[in-house]
Amino acid sequence: MIRETFPVGPLACNCTILADERSGEAIVVDGGDGVEEVTARLERNHWRAKLLLHTHAHIDHIGDVGRLRRETGAPALLHSADVPLYQTLPLQAGWLGLAQAPKVVLLDGDLRDGDVLALGAAEVKILHTPGHTPGSVCFAVAHAEQTALLTGDTLFAGSIGRWDLGGTSMEDIVDSIRAKLLPYADATPVIPGHGPFTTVGMERGMNPYLQ
Ligand SMILES: [Zn+2]
Ligand SMILES: [Zn+2]
Repeated sequence: MIRETFPVGPLACNCTILADERSGEAIVVDGGDGVEEVTARLERNHWRAKLLLHTHAHIDHIGDVGRLRRETGAPALLHSADVPLYQTLPLQAGWLGLAQAPKVVLLDGDLRDGDVLALGAAEVKILHTPGHTPGSVCFAVAHAEQTALLTGDTLFAGSIGRWDLGGTSMEDIVDSIRAKLLPYADATPVIPGHGPFTTVGMERGMNPYLQ
């Protein structure tokens, strides 16, 4: 399996493409603010997106998913608890001062805690981690004994996501990290939704919110 992570959009959201070399099938995580970049990478590598996954419904992660879906033909999934937040895209665009809000579309399905999606020999497990938003999820990507965590805006290197954006608390986000992410081994790479990569061990030992 190949993993490419690159920042997209004005808020530099870390978008990740997971690709199975053998079949050319790919999963795009948080590509909604990087339609051009994502489609260019898919084309260049001859990958076919089979799923568009989202860690949560903030505009920098899901934004123009309607257009990304049209370009790739892949279904777009989001945790159901974040669908109401997704429907506030015009409001979120206003907060960022964007002249034009991306179009809200009907999504194709739910991301449920514990579900496992296959990509060739790799598996992507859904971990519901409410706190940053009610429907925030992380993805545990396992391949050949190696697991990496895509943590969205739940866990950052040395920090955690905001919890003051509606309906959640700092306890929620810390509880989610302790219950769903810290059980992974220290060496597990963590790819946050913004900023540098880290590991579970680094965050267990150094993250001020987890001490
Ligand atoms: Zn966010
Ligand atoms: Zn974000």
